[in-house]
Amino acid sequence: MQETDVDTVKVRVLVVEDDAGIARSLVRGLERDGYAARSVDTGRAALAAEPVPDLVLLDLGLPDLDGVEVCRLLRRRSDAAVIVVTARGEEGDRVSALDEGADDYLVKPFGLAELLARVRAVLRRTRPQVPELLQCGPLSVDPRTRKVSIAGQEIVLTPKEFDILECLAVDPGRVVTRQEILERAWDAHWYGPTKVLDVHMAALRRKLGVPGLVETVYGRGFRLSDPVGRP
Ligand code: CA
Repeated sequence: MQETDVDTVKVRVLVVEDDAGIARSLVRGLERDGYAARSVDTGRAALAAEPVPDLVLLDLGLPDLDGVEVCRLLRRRSDAAVIVVTARGEEGDRVSALDEGADDYLVKPFGLAELLARVRAVLRRTRPQVPELLQCGPLSVDPRTRKVSIAGQEIVLTPKEFDILECLAVDPGRVVTRQEILERAWDAHWYGPTKVLDVHMAALRRKLGVPGLVETVYGRGFRLSDPVGRP
């Protein structure tokens, strides 16, 4: 497996912590456990973080913004899981943060083992496991290696075409809306022209070469259907 493949499957954790020593040891501990971790020391930097992390470890006592407010804004702009970190005696803040959508909390001081256990538990709840291989009729999609094949024959797709196909392949038969595909294959805040999707979709269908495999559900979106096994 290539290095880039490894990176795409790593869970991204953002540590928001203004104590440099704590931040460093958390990042190191998370990295050792296989996460792609980095840290920022202000609420503003947390809100501007790109790429959007999968999980945020949020210290509520930040120098610039109110931690509870940061939690609320994070929740509004992404579906990252949030674990808040508070000092003893900040129970009110902890409750407010949970009310604002935090998934869990930790009280300082805490051990790395406990943190990692909380991270795993939250990710289990918020991120469904990526299945090994997605299949529909003659189509196989491997999310880990990003390889696609039709009846065992490998099909070379562009990254965008793959992302679109993956949206459909995770649940064959379910109608996936245009907006859902745009949000997942482009950006969580895509509001541009949707014509671009049609162009990629046409190319994808041409490459797959199986008529009826990607169905257009008029006015709703697209779905995968098994053209051979269909009743
Ligand atoms: Ca702090």
